[in-house]
Amino acid sequence: MGAQKYVYFFGAGKADGNAKMKELLGGKGANLAEMTSIGLPVPAGFTITTEVCTEYYKNGRKYPAALDAEVKTNLAAVEKLMGKKFGDPSNPLLVSVRSGARASMPGMMDTILNLGLNDTTVKGIIAQSGDERFAYDAYRRFVQMYSDVVMGMDKEALEHLLERKKEARGVHLDTDLTAADWKELVVAFKAKVKETLGADFPEDPEEQLWGAIGAVFGSWMNQRAITYRKLNSIPAEWGTAVNVQSMVFGNMGNDCATGVAFTRDPSTGENYFYGEYLVNAQGEDVVAGIRTPQPINKAKQKAGDLPAMEDVLPECYLQLCNIRDILERHYKDMQDIEFTIEKGVLYMLQCRSGKRTAKAAIKIAVDMVKEGLIDEKTAVLRVAPSQLDQLLHPSLDPKAKKEIIAKGLPASPGAASGEVVFTADEAEAAAKLGNKVILVRVETSPEDIHGMHAAQGILTARGGMTSHAAVVARGMGKCCVAGCGDIKVDYAGHKLVAKNGVVVKKGDVITLDGSTGEVMLGAVPTVAAEVSGDFATLMGWVDKFRRMKVRANADTPHDAKTARDFGAEGIGLCRTEHMFFEANRIAAVREMILSEDIEGRRKALLKILPMQKGDFKGLFREMKGLPVTIRLLDPPLHEFLPQEEKDIKALAETMGVPAETLRHKVEFLHEFNPMLGHRGCRLGVTFPEIYDMQVQAIMEAACELVKDEGFQIVPEIMIPLVAVTKELGIMRANAVAVCEEVMAKYGVKIEYLIGTMIELPRAAITADSIATEADFFSFGTNDLTQTTFGLSRDDAGKFLPFYVENGILDDDPFVTLDQNGVGCLVKMGCEKGRQTKAGIKLGICGEHGGDPASVMFCDKVGLDYVSCSPFRVPIARLAAAHASLGA
Ligand code: PEP
Ligand code: MG
Repeated sequence: MGAQKYVYFFGAGKADGNAKMKELLGGKGANLAEMTSIGLPVPAGFTITTEVCTEYYKNGRKYPAALDAEVKTNLAAVEKLMGKKFGDPSNPLLVSVRSGARASMPGMMDTILNLGLNDTTVKGIIAQSGDERFAYDAYRRFVQMYSDVVMGMDKEALEHLLERKKEARGVHLDTDLTAADWKELVVAFKAKVKETLGADFPEDPEEQLWGAIGAVFGSWMNQRAITYRKLNSIPAEWGTAVNVQSMVFGNMGNDCATGVAFTRDPSTGENYFYGEYLVNAQGEDVVAGIRTPQPINKAKQKAGDLPAMEDVLPECYLQLCNIRDILERHYKDMQDIEFTIEKGVLYMLQCRSGKRTAKAAIKIAVDMVKEGLIDEKTAVLRVAPSQLDQLLHPSLDPKAKKEIIAKGLPASPGAASGEVVFTADEAEAAAKLGNKVILVRVETSPEDIHGMHAAQGILTARGGMTSHAAVVARGMGKCCVAGCGDIKVDYAGHKLVAKNGVVVKKGDVITLDGSTGEVMLGAVPTVAAEVSGDFATLMGWVDKFRRMKVRANADTPHDAKTARDFGAEGIGLCRTEHMFFEANRIAAVREMILSEDIEGRRKALLKILPMQKGDFKGLFREMKGLPVTIRLLDPPLHEFLPQEEKDIKALAETMGVPAETLRHKVEFLHEFNPMLGHRGCRLGVTFPEIYDMQVQAIMEAACELVKDEGFQIVPEIMIPLVAVTKELGIMRANAVAVCEEVMAKYGVKIEYLIGTMIELPRAAITADSIATEADFFSFGTNDLTQTTFGLSRDDAGKFLPFYVENGILDDDPFVTLDQNGVGCLVKMGCEKGRQTKAGIKLGICGEHGGDPASVMFCDKVGLDYVSCSPFRVPIARLAAAHASLGA
């Protein structure tokens, strides 16, 4: 085996790496290599691998011994290609040093530009460029960036010197400062650095280079990066690569420019070259939102826009369009690119698969199949299940009255209302209290990530469609209106003032429409999402590839309809207790619970029976013959009981008993630990008449529909909270007796199933025995999580967030299935159940049935179906397809 290679070269059509080497070279490095190899104009450079980062941290921040020599060799190769020399007084090479992890982490880590400048080489740059002002501007930018990122200098101190300079010169804009001003500022900056840090600003380019490399590796562990990784489940072990690349300048005059573009519209997915650029600017200016960039093409120009790149630099524009086609054909996906034009020559600085909204992801995937670029399987895998959430969420009701106070850029679609806050910390604090907020900033920066995460929507006064706010919001699937010049943000006054004079104070409610860019006063009502067009096409493919069925948890015909519209293939859980709470029946339910004897209970149950039958008929009708699993009564009885004195009195009157007796009965039914108390099948065992009534209602409903309306129905009767086989045995025998009796009465024979929930560890452990009495198992992972962890579902909120924030748990186990613990019980339950009955039907109906990672797990252990809330049905369908396709 040869020695390990730490540095990969790219330049002039040849590269050591390629796009498949993202783990080693990071996304940026791998794609720079790939673009170089396919002949695109990429400034030469080299990538230091992510392995160096990993070793650096493993060995107490020391580099591998061989790195130094490899960097030297590769730097020499870059010098040769560029015909320049690093540190050369007359013909100096300048480089950029940038991070690049396996997954893109926009703005999270450090970048240094113009590295290699010092008092000597700046003269060489003046000689090369013939532009003294440009050279000193580049130099001062370098000193600012380097002293901040590498040396830890406070940025503000140097900004302050710059502001004072402008005051002294009586100018407002940086662009009004002269070469001499910049030259003086470089001296002043360095003096300030020395004064503050007690260290000289390094003159030696090699020292600068190693300082920058160290800073980039160091930034992997900065707080922003750590937070971002946590939010995006990126492991710290991946490490970052470092890219050292020859500088090209977009700010050497009006034949220079810099820009970013998406090969298709990242917001809508439209097949339209979507980009923004700035003439005479350096790369970071576009992303930072300091100047508002202009569209690259004319097609969608609006009145008041500055000239498009298509007009200003037509040849470069055509070349860029050509590169767009090459990239899409090569990568077969929408790309996000960065480019710079130096004196009329176009260079590519980055390409990567572009972040996009769910809507765009679907449109692009479907279009690319039509264009023959990808197949249907690839299209399905291109859309992340969790992303669909955005689409299934409401948009503004078109009929609603809107008081529009401002308009900005439609940066990330969807609609959101909330109280205005002006800092990320306020947003986070408010969200913790359960308040909905809109985060309003002049512009956002990576420091605001936690607040953006907590907010319902984001509004910025500055920045374009590719500004930090826009890019990050789109990635999060959050509604965002960016670059809203119609508002003035007054942080000190805790308010914003719209152009039309409306003042919105902190705490006032506004609504954003991320699809139009409108900002409205108050909360505007919303309407449900529509699921048709490309969405329906994609979901059609999804259904071709998935093995698992997807059902919904639904208790009412209305929910059942929503579920079917979203593609549910049955009901996996109807919680009958929800039906008991309706105003016209709660009295009868209470009467039943509080009766002293079986006669009293039967009398009350007879009142409930017709209503339950009606409920089930509604559900069966709505589901049109698809399977419906109905769970018999589950919660502790005291949940139904009256607590207020006046309710107790009223009920006592109806029942004809003294209020005092009733009060005692209510007290008697109180439980210390109701979740572990007299609930589930324990009710059925002790009060069989309750379950008998429910089974009767189910079967009568089914028989009537079969007999009178020609339905085909196979009711699935589900017994909750079974711990021992005998419980289920008794419940089954009772249910069978009722079913047979009802069928005899109607003179019809229908198939029915009797099964159980597996939601207690004991049930999972003894599933082989329990299966002798069950036609199906449905894993109730809510209770199973609660009982496996010994963690109350209702009280966990007090400390669980702390556990997740501090990494004691990776995820909230009530959201994402704890595969190592609870998952083991699910797996065991499946295996043992199948040992006894090979064909036993297996499903899940806990909340996890709609969580993509949990759905993948369910596929692995071989469940037949997952069941989740109606709005998550498409997410579960897509996740099930991803599982089948081995994602
Ligand atoms: C469960 O426990 O997972 C379940 C679906 O039942 P419930 O949430 O109603 O207790
Ligand atoms: Mg349960």
